[in-house]
Amino acid sequence: MTTTPTPAADALRGAGLRVTAARVAILDTVRAGHHLDVETITGGVRDRVGHVSTQAVYEALHALTAAGLVRRIEPAGSPARFEGRVGDNHHHLVCRRCGAVEDVDCAVGHAPCLDPSDAAGFLVDEADVTYWGLCPACRADTAHSPSKGAGGTAP
Ligand SMILES: [Zn+2]
Ligand SMILES: [Zn+2]
Ligand SMILES: [Zn+2]
Repeated sequence: MTTTPTPAADALRGAGLRVTAARVAILDTVRAGHHLDVETITGGVRDRVGHVSTQAVYEALHALTAAGLVRRIEPAGSPARFEGRVGDNHHHLVCRRCGAVEDVDCAVGHAPCLDPSDAAGFLVDEADVTYWGLCPACRADTAHSPSKGAGGTAP
């Protein structure tokens, strides 16, 4: 990414949200992180501004998501995660084993997956694509561990 994001306080103001120390800390934490869950975000916010309740973090994340400043993703079977990369309809690779998440670019300037072969009259504004598989670390790990089956008897 070559663009410098708008400073958190300005971004909040621009979105019509009240600027509070906690909200600035939440947006900074989400932007600095990599698809963080609420627990991790809460920890990061406490490091920055001291005590803040988990409930307050939830409410602020909801407001930030509604304002389009953060994006919420929720891969099946995983808690919701938040990221500061918004507005580009990018997709995600998710590891089935450890839950690692990586970004995958959609086409810049045009998102081909937003044009389904048949939209059935819907006005499509988002394509939520998740690629499931094993991350490199888990692939290496499973390659080294003994494979089960192969004539063994279940305990
Ligand atoms: Zn993994
Ligand atoms: Zn992402
Ligand atoms: Zn796409």
